[in-house]
Amino acid sequence: SRTGARGEPLPAALSGVRWVRLCFVDLFGTLRAIHVPAPQVRRVLDHGMVFDGSAIEGRVRLLEADRVLHPDPATAVALPDGSARMLGVVLDAEGEPWPLDPRTALLLWLEAHEELAERWRGGAELEWYLVTADLEPADRGSYFSEQTGLGAQVAHRAAETLEGLGVEVLAAHHEGGPGQWELDLGERDPLGLADALTWAKAVVAETAAAQGLRASFAARPLAGQPGSGLHLHQRLDGLALEGDLAEEARFVIGGLLQHARGLCALAAPSVGSYRRLHSGPEAPGAVVWAHTNRAALVRLGHLADGRPTIEYRGADPTANPYLLLTGLLAAVEDGLANRRFPGKAVEEEPAGLDLAAVEAAPGLLPRSLDAAVDALLEDEVLVDAFDARLVGRLVDGQRAELEAAGANVTRADLLSSLEG
Ligand code: GLN
Ligand code: MG
Ligand code: MG
Ligand code: MG
Repeated sequence: SRTGARGEPLPAALSGVRWVRLCFVDLFGTLRAIHVPAPQVRRVLDHGMVFDGSAIEGRVRLLEADRVLHPDPATAVALPDGSARMLGVVLDAEGEPWPLDPRTALLLWLEAHEELAERWRGGAELEWYLVTADLEPADRGSYFSEQTGLGAQVAHRAAETLEGLGVEVLAAHHEGGPGQWELDLGERDPLGLADALTWAKAVVAETAAAQGLRASFAARPLAGQPGSGLHLHQRLDGLALEGDLAEEARFVIGGLLQHARGLCALAAPSVGSYRRLHSGPEAPGAVVWAHTNRAALVRLGHLADGRPTIEYRGADPTANPYLLLTGLLAAVEDGLANRRFPGKAVEEEPAGLDLAAVEAAPGLLPRSLDAAVDALLEDEVLVDAFDARLVGRLVDGQRAELEAAGANVTRADLLSSLEG
């Protein structure tokens, strides 16, 4: 079960541990924790941990409201520093699932759509920049560089730690920008993938910090350099993705394109996300699908283990993985249920993307967070995938971020947003 472990033995990962971090993810994808000494864990597993639920709202927190965090014992992992970590779900004061908790939002969606939840499996490519304390790139490497100093060490150690947490890492490599790295995560079920992404970001950040460096998960932190993507690779049990594309595979793609614009508010949820979309090299701008075209939003690709997949390239690492996967699955579900044909594949021409073909397709992705938020609010399928209060709080937070950014536009911001 996803809550209660009343009376069950403590998870093995907690043996010998002195502190346990009881974690949840706020609406904006930030990992948060209540730290409890090990002797408190029995009580917490039996009764939950009361905390201020407005912390879920991150930067838009309003009134304090008691909620109960129930850590899931199945997520317990020992960390290299001798503490342990558990992820949980949040219940309201009556002990009911609290739909403003992003992990609960995904769980509720999965419970209501068991058939797709059972069939869907996904892996991910997570890109980030490794920077020094002065925010300079930590190395001068480029695409697939071999000699890269500390960067390779951080990638290796992070991957090893993740393996210890049960997160399969298929590969790591240097990405196109200086200091830019990628980890490829093996496929999991939807909740497993969201949890894996949560752990991966935390572990990469901690591993970088242990080397005196910082990991930036911003969508495009360095002007003039490539952005960082979070490509999601999906397949459905029983659906072949090679050879002539099955009708069902087309509907999956069709759903992703149909809801592409609204999905941006979940997949590319930061003001800075729009420095990557449209202008970042190999980042999408058009709502089209393709076999090879890396400017397309959806591509028939491969996970690093060679498995053929439907790759969604719209997300960046600032996405909250729980909200992103909920939205993505809702789009896929709608594509299948309503037989949404995606139109023709738009492959890249030597002269660049054929804009006439793009006009004929559902068009272009939003060019700003503002436009993405409007598109989300206009998309009934996506809005209905969540509790209305969650969407309200998310949009409030995004609009607050837009306002704060508008008041502080630096020269560097302007230059990078005008690029490309
Ligand atoms: N960095 C690119 C992005 O923003 C992807 C590059 C790649 O993996 N081919 O999505
Ligand atoms: Mg890759
Ligand atoms: Mg990559
Ligand atoms: Mg990719």
